[in-house]
Amino acid sequence: MLVREIGTDYLIVGAGAAGMAFADTVVSDSDAEVVIVDRRHAPGGHWNDAYPFVRLHQPAMYYGVNSMPLGTDTIDQSGLNSGLYVQASAPEICAYYDRVMRERLLPSGRVRYLPMSEHTGDGRVVSRLTGDSWDIKARKAFVDARYLEPGIPKTTPPPFEVEPGVRCVPVDELPQVTGNTIMAASVTNGMPSIHFSTALLIAWALWRWKWGRVFGIAFAIATMVATLGSGEHYLCDLVMAVPYALFVGWCGRRIASKRFRTASGCGAGERLSYAQRTGEARA
Ligand SMILES: Cc1cc2nc3c(=O)[nH]c(=O)nc-3n(C[C@H](O)[C@H](O)[C@H](O)COP(=O)(O)OP(=O)(O)OC[C@H]3O[C@@H](n4cnc5c(N)ncnc54)[C@H](O)[C@@H]3O)c2cc1C
Repeated sequence: MLVREIGTDYLIVGAGAAGMAFADTVVSDSDAEVVIVDRRHAPGGHWNDAYPFVRLHQPAMYYGVNSMPLGTDTIDQSGLNSGLYVQASAPEICAYYDRVMRERLLPSGRVRYLPMSEHTGDGRVVSRLTGDSWDIKARKAFVDARYLEPGIPKTTPPPFEVEPGVRCVPVDELPQVTGNTIMAASVTNGMPSIHFSTALLIAWALWRWKWGRVFGIAFAIATMVATLGSGEHYLCDLVMAVPYALFVGWCGRRIASKRFRTASGCGAGERLSYAQRTGEARA
């Protein structure tokens, strides 16, 4: 394996928005030399892997490097952004950074660009294509332009569990997927299962009536099968639904009996005063 030594003023790791802006300013405002290293094949950072339909959140004119404008300083006439300054799409941003590299940085003669190269630490850079290495000595500074690197769906594992045997793909890979596809639009519900505890409460309420008891049990069993079968709940959610239903039922009974007592007491009082009043009136 070949190891070469390179001396430069600035070693920049990351050819995304941050690294490219730094290199552009160095080239514009000084006579320093720069080496830019990136594990990706092209400048532009995460935009190379972003969904093709995503756009900047801000007007394109305020994004990119100082020396070269991105986009046109115009107002969109149609679409969701109608009436606002144009926003660049991911392919436009990648094409823009490619132009900055080819037309601005490399022609300066002071920038060396190592794409498809991994910085492994302490100035050591390894080519992902050939395995060759460089030891890069930065005379002025090592610039870590990975600092704000965002996690995007294409390059980060999903933030949820995927069952073994299930292939989980980011949305832009859906057209290549053949066979049955399930779009995961929601996660499973939590603990306890409110569906099952409601079914238990219905069974409880109908228990004294013979056919109500039959209906209540059948409904609870059907709810249990449906929630487990559809993957909406785990078994432990259903188990926890039993004490939850008992607690809710107990609270309901207490509140109802209190109300009943208050209501009947109040009613007797009203009846008495009415009798008194009518008696008084008759007398
Ligand atoms: C959909 C979306 C829209 C956005 N819109 C805006 C917006 O409108 N305005 C705004 O200001 N920001 C926006 N952002 C935020 C965005 O993160 C920044 O604008 C900017 O692109 C980040 O650039 P960066 O250079 O910090 O990171 P990156 O673009 O991720 O670049 C870091 C680079 O470092 C490389 N790298 C990492 N580790 C190594 C290593 N060990 N060796 C070699 N190379 C390495 C990576 O390959 C990568 O190319 C948006 C982000 C997303 C996802």
